[in-house]
Amino acid sequence: MGKTCAALLCLLLIACGGDNGASSTASSDGVQPQQTYKWKLVTSWPKNFPGLGLAPEHFVQMVERMSNGRLKIKVYGAGQLVPAFEVFDAVSQGTAEMGHSGSYYWKGKLPASPFFGTVPFGLNAQEMNAWLHYGGGLELWRELYAPFNLVPFAAGNTGVQMAGWFNREINSIEDIKGLKMRIPGLGGEVFTRAGGIAVNLPGGELYTSMQTGVIDATEWVGPYNDLALGFYQVAKYYYYPGWHEPGPTLELIVNKQALESLPQDLQAIVETAARAVNQDMLDEYTARNNAALVELVNKHGVQVKRLPDDVLAEFKRLSGEVIDELAAKDPLTQRIADSMRAFAEQSKAYHGISEEAYYNARGK
Ligand code: CA
Repeated sequence: MGKTCAALLCLLLIACGGDNGASSTASSDGVQPQQTYKWKLVTSWPKNFPGLGLAPEHFVQMVERMSNGRLKIKVYGAGQLVPAFEVFDAVSQGTAEMGHSGSYYWKGKLPASPFFGTVPFGLNAQEMNAWLHYGGGLELWRELYAPFNLVPFAAGNTGVQMAGWFNREINSIEDIKGLKMRIPGLGGEVFTRAGGIAVNLPGGELYTSMQTGVIDATEWVGPYNDLALGFYQVAKYYYYPGWHEPGPTLELIVNKQALESLPQDLQAIVETAARAVNQDMLDEYTARNNAALVELVNKHGVQVKRLPDDVLAEFKRLSGEVIDELAAKDPLTQRIADSMRAFAEQSKAYHGISEEAYYNARGK
């Protein structure tokens, strides 16, 4: 193509498309010019952290592509714009239009918030998604966040986690007594009631804390993330199942006024991209956990063990206590707990003859 020809093509493209072209054509058609938006998204994760931190990156890429660049969102890692645990307040106040985090971090402000992340012996990923999107969960979540000017969306799930890394074998509930473990949230409360000492530390401090004996045990996520952090070098036993985090949902929170300022199509794009990234994270963890577990066992000699039945039974009993006490805090928390429990009962009945029966029939 000659230079003149290329220049003509360029002029033609400018005349037919692009923001300027669209605007000038638009006014004669009676169509409003298409405004572009530049937003900020703050997160509780280090920038580009595997899994958790990549989800918001995937989200903004999807939104930009689907909106043809009309909604551009910049992702800030923890501490880049606001600290990890100030995401909720920053989006509530409009410092950023969006945030990606975990609802259980806001337990101090909102006792009911862990129900939308994960509760011990609660719903798994498949059930969480079903409760949120078809069982009334999302409406309750929005009711809980409404006074804070926030609209939440489910935006990621790790699937069932592992119980964690231990330096000694757990043969009975007696072995929990005096054990110092990094285990946050409601699971930590259960662990403390069982006689252990629960502490919460950021992910980046766990390896050194295990190495120096500051803690005796730690949970993090599952094989994919735990392999990356190198825990197999500082602990011998890798226990399952993750009774304390059976299907944690990550959240996308959007400032209400900011969301409502978007035209309908961009609002739909935000909702659709959140739903897509919610499933995408689960897909990624499911695939990568399998491969990482093989590597941990075959290459690094990790001993994978199941928590004994009596330990799990005691954790389950104590979880019931913790959740009952939490639910009694206020009427909305009670409604949320009741809704989740009713859903869990139904799910258990059907999953007993579908998912569970199938796993049993398939065998190992
Ligand atoms: Ca965890």
